[in-house]
Amino acid sequence: MSAHCPWSAHEGCCRAHPSTRDQPPQPPIHRIEIPEQKLEPSNAASNGGQPPPPYIDPRSSYAITPIHLAVEHHLSLQHLDCVRRRLEEKPTPQLVPELSAKGSISRSDGTRIEWNSYVYFERGRFLQRQQTLYLRKDGMAKRKENFISCPHHSIEIDGPTFGFQDDRLTAKTLIVNNPPRCEVHFGGTEWNSLHGDYLQMNVCQICHCDAECIIALEIDNLFVWYTCYKDLGTGDASNPDAKWIALLTGRGTPCRDTESFELYARVWGAAKSLDQRGLEDVTHRNSRGVFNVYSHWMQSQNTQNQETTDRGT
Ligand SMILES: [Zn+2]
Ligand SMILES: [Zn+2]
Ligand SMILES: [Zn+2]
Ligand SMILES: [Zn+2]
Ligand SMILES: [Zn+2]
Repeated sequence: MSAHCPWSAHEGCCRAHPSTRDQPPQPPIHRIEIPEQKLEPSNAASNGGQPPPPYIDPRSSYAITPIHLAVEHHLSLQHLDCVRRRLEEKPTPQLVPELSAKGSISRSDGTRIEWNSYVYFERGRFLQRQQTLYLRKDGMAKRKENFISCPHHSIEIDGPTFGFQDDRLTAKTLIVNNPPRCEVHFGGTEWNSLHGDYLQMNVCQICHCDAECIIALEIDNLFVWYTCYKDLGTGDASNPDAKWIALLTGRGTPCRDTESFELYARVWGAAKSLDQRGLEDVTHRNSRGVFNVYSHWMQSQNTQNQETTDRGT
């Protein structure tokens, strides 16, 4: 099989490599396997040499892992369950301020991370948008940053190297997806600001989680926007749904179309209808073509308005 990745350096790469597209679907990517029963330490060897993650009861107060260490906000099922009883059904998405937070850290090496975490309630489900904005200037200590979308996927971004080309400041870095997204980019994707902004979307097959990464050099600042769009489920602690269990423990069955932007569009749209900030209007690309979230949202608004008008007449 000839190894060829169709994506240029500023587009990241897809899960569905064209050389494998015509073949049967690939087996699901399971980085963490947790059996139904409590794992004993002696089972460690059966997990590909990796020590097994501790068994977690999804009804317990464990929180899902924030997308970055800087995010000091931990959400458990009990938090959702608690507000669920108080929320009233509304036709439009609501922000849940009790479960939303934001903050920032400035490090001694000069890097800065701003973060926010929003929970929305829409049609009986909790949605979450968690975002970090990472910023660094030239001349700062090199340090890798790790961003975690769910138990099945994370991304590591090398400390960037700055340089000059044609009198312009350039930045380059290496983006490593774990697990790798295709066989060509097993060791990561090299990005150089001369290619344009970096853009990738990772859709987990198991968790209802879409993770977006945008890297851009603006004047002399390197920016990384990392945003996760999640469906947290119903928030019913007496009957935890599969969505929550998957996000918390990694356990679950592949149920999602990884070439669909539906969840991303739904959470983005909820935030947009609440007039929130930090929404990047970008055009993503996958094997099905291009997808612009803003035009998608505008279209859905027009459809809704049309339906309202139709009902009114
Ligand atoms: Zn590929
Ligand atoms: Zn690739
Ligand atoms: Zn690819
Ligand atoms: Zn996942
Ligand atoms: Zn599902």
